[in-house]
Amino acid sequence: MRQVIIIGSGPAGYTAAIYAARANLAPLVVASSVEAGGELMNTTEVENFPGFPEGIMGPDLMTKMQEQAERFGAEVLYDDAVELDIDGPVKRVILGSGKSYEADSLVFATGSAPRKIGIDGETRLSGRGVSYCATCDGFFFREKVIAVVGGGDSAMEEATFLTKFASKVYVIHRRDELRASKIMQERAFKNDKIEFVWNSEVVDVLGTDAVTGVTLEDTVDGTRRDLALDGVFVAIGNDPRTHLVHGKLDLTPEGTVWVDGRSSRTSVPGVFAAGDVIDPTYRQAVTAAGSGTVAALDVEHFLAALGEAGAPAVDASEIDGLPEVDGRRAVDAA
Ligand code: NAP
Repeated sequence: MRQVIIIGSGPAGYTAAIYAARANLAPLVVASSVEAGGELMNTTEVENFPGFPEGIMGPDLMTKMQEQAERFGAEVLYDDAVELDIDGPVKRVILGSGKSYEADSLVFATGSAPRKIGIDGETRLSGRGVSYCATCDGFFFREKVIAVVGGGDSAMEEATFLTKFASKVYVIHRRDELRASKIMQERAFKNDKIEFVWNSEVVDVLGTDAVTGVTLEDTVDGTRRDLALDGVFVAIGNDPRTHLVHGKLDLTPEGTVWVDGRSSRTSVPGVFAAGDVIDPTYRQAVTAAGSGTVAALDVEHFLAALGEAGAPAVDASEIDGLPEVDGRRAVDAA
């Protein structure tokens, strides 16, 4: 039986782990089997994380966060949470490997996943020229003509990065002005290899075995035209990863996990949420890290209220008002 399990290993998960570990809560971090480190693992240089004036590569930042959490006693598992049982006082996490772990509290920090355009060709040609990760797949498009879809910081970052490989990068945006920050916009505008395609929506991705182009629809006059391409990178934002908690935790109208005010308390006592999965607005590495801090402190207060903060897991019968569930509170079910 653990005191706290943290699901997710992005800036929110690892920061929660650093704080929880320093509070002697020996957190277990379910880091994911293939996506450990979260979205920053797919990023190039992070220029706006305080403390790194020269910038730091996303994967390096996540490695440092993990090392910092482990240094204080966090245990990291490269496995996926596939089911949660969180109704009762014992929170149970079932993993893809078949193992399960139990804890008095849970921090849900699963982040967000790349949003899809939602058209047939996109699904059919995913991995065959349609990609959601420039750093993962950019290398395959050396001297090719490609497009990035989107007008935010991610699209600017991906387009700029992809000019290292591609001969030409179109940025296809549905409006005539970008959502991206000024500094990212200017960098993209100055890049000779980038050409902007304004007021255009991708309505089809063309090709049989590989991408050969896209069909664009003009968002002003509705006309359609094809644009020949070797690849399409979709960078139109992210959606919170909430599939594990549908029907278990309250969600907001934006689809993020609902939390009580500025806290990380969800609709279920003992379950806390942090990072992109609760944030429809800011979604920065540093705000996610701050949110992870809030979650760890809320966990500490919660456990203190149970009378067990800082102490090894105790038998449920020692905790006033909490029923023992088949003696499960005293065992780690791994
Ligand atoms: P975002 O800011 O939400 O931008 C998404 C872009 O995709 C918008 O331009 C949007 O168009 C467009 N879009 C959304 N749905 C679409 C659809 N179905 N079809 C076509 N276009 C669609 O997302 P993001 O760029 O991933 O950035 C997310 C957050 O991470 C932001 O807070 C951003 O600042 C941050 N971020 C920061 C950095 C950095 O600082 N280095 C890098 C990456 C991301 P509209 O503009 O018309 O809505």
